[in-house]
Amino acid sequence: MLTFSRRAVLSAAAAVLLLGAARGPAGASETVPVVATFSILGDFVRVVGGARVSVRTLVGPDGDAHVYNPSPADARAVAEARAVFVNGLGFEGWIERLVKASGTRASLVVATRGISPRVMEDADGHGHDHGAKDPHAWQSVANAKVYVANVRDGLVAADPDGAPVYQANAAAYLAELDRLDAEVRAAIGRVPPAERRVLTSHDAFGYFAAAYGVTFLAPQGVSTEAEATAKDVARLIRLIRKEKIKAVFVETITDPRLADRIARETGVALGGEIYSDALSPSTGPAATYIDMVRHNVKLLTAAMAGS
Ligand SMILES: [Zn+2]
Repeated sequence: MLTFSRRAVLSAAAAVLLLGAARGPAGASETVPVVATFSILGDFVRVVGGARVSVRTLVGPDGDAHVYNPSPADARAVAEARAVFVNGLGFEGWIERLVKASGTRASLVVATRGISPRVMEDADGHGHDHGAKDPHAWQSVANAKVYVANVRDGLVAADPDGAPVYQANAAAYLAELDRLDAEVRAAIGRVPPAERRVLTSHDAFGYFAAAYGVTFLAPQGVSTEAEATAKDVARLIRLIRKEKIKAVFVETITDPRLADRIARETGVALGGEIYSDALSPSTGPAATYIDMVRHNVKLLTAAMAGS
């Protein structure tokens, strides 16, 4: 009898432990499942959520959220999520259908809420198809702070017990973003104003341009989707000469002969790869939002200075 009752007590204790674990983050190993639509937003959620949340990012590093095709596994992740973080401003044209199809009861958190959207001058001329609003709001660090505040509030709503953790993580990260913003301003400030002009194939830097006083030209005919042709390159060369631009970032020119021709005929070397809509894989130069901004600014300022 004694053995039996002791066993009963033990199993009751085990059941309590199991219940505690099933209830969520109060248990040691349970985390709050959440979804973020793309890698940059996923990074914000990971930083603010810390060890309490497990983030599934639908469009991963180097992915293109403009033209994404969700998988059945994505629908399952959305169904199980306690919150789904989206950019909004028409960036994820596929999200509404995915959320509906998943039957999720998760709240949808729009990370750009409170940001006044820029209007894209050329809404669909460069492989973009997201209407008149420019969705690339994260490219200004001040806007990234709005994303982080919305992420924090979304996590607190989804998991109120974690509020102190989310608030502390967000506060520390917001301070880091303040330092990053000052760093960007100082770096751009060292480039003479007349030199602050960049030619790019992806019209994704409108918020960066407005925040930091850099002009971006995104010429017609050089899209983000197709490899540039010799004819595109000839047009590009004329534009570079006419506008006397030193900073040229055209990711669709992967043919070294075309890049050589631009260098030969304009004296301008292609500036390398700047990141607009996605982070790099973890081994790359833009594995986090902060790394991405630093990497972009380093390449942009070097190119604008003609070095
Ligand atoms: Zn884009």
